[in-house]
Amino acid sequence: MTKVHNFSAGPGILPQQAIDNSISALQNFMGTNLSLIEVSHRDKEFESVMAEARQLPLDILGLGDDYDAVYLGGGASLQFCMVPYNFLNTKAAYLKTGVWAANAVKEAKFFGETDVVASSEDKNYTYVPKDFVIPTDAEYFHYTSNNTIYGTQMHSIPNSPVPLFCDMSSDIFSKQIDAKKFDLIYAGAQKNMGPAGATLVILKKELLEKITRKIPSMLDYRNHFSKESMYNTPPVFAVYCSLQVLKWVKEMGL
Ligand SMILES: *Cc1c(COP(=O)(O)O)cnc(C)c1O
Repeated sequence: MTKVHNFSAGPGILPQQAIDNSISALQNFMGTNLSLIEVSHRDKEFESVMAEARQLPLDILGLGDDYDAVYLGGGASLQFCMVPYNFLNTKAAYLKTGVWAANAVKEAKFFGETDVVASSEDKNYTYVPKDFVIPTDAEYFHYTSNNTIYGTQMHSIPNSPVPLFCDMSSDIFSKQIDAKKFDLIYAGAQKNMGPAGATLVILKKELLEKITRKIPSMLDYRNHFSKESMYNTPPVFAVYCSLQVLKWVKEMGL
């Protein structure tokens, strides 16, 4: 079979070794004589997969144990809602640089004052606004590192006086970044790190202490982080396949 390339923003092309390892795990997962999708996520074999899949993104990004990572369902789009549900009590600041950023703003408005500090909507999101001021009384500042649809990418990390949140769905693990500047990072797997079905959420653990609102269980980050991404059945295949991609990224280096 001739491998064909797809230059679409997503789903992305995955390294062959990630595909091969995933096929093999679907046939016989870690010597269990069961498929990856037939074993319990509570089995020690899958627990070790999840532990590694949560640790590797932190290692690759150079983050220490003051950060933690989980895999959630619902795509990056669910994070547009979970982020403000958990952290927007009065006011948050957003940079509106594309369709996804605009969707994030739309969801934030359900939860509190949403201060759009700058927008490139006037020119159909074809540029990145440079001059904007982030209010110091915002609970966080949210931006999208790469505008997937129009291709406008932020080439530097904004200095933020408040916790810095970023949707990195389409450029995570594509280059070295100073990840310690961020308090929360999320990315739908299917653009840059695996198949659809899992969304990686990384946050600085101390942020969890700031959650005060009553939140339905599945939307409350505290449940997912305290249960180490096993609050309910995780998307096992998407996590396993993403882990294979992450191992390849680690081997190649950023
Ligand atoms: C694709 C994309 C999304 C939406 O991702 P889903 O996983 O489909 O919800 C959000 N943000 C960015 C930057 C994207 O590229």
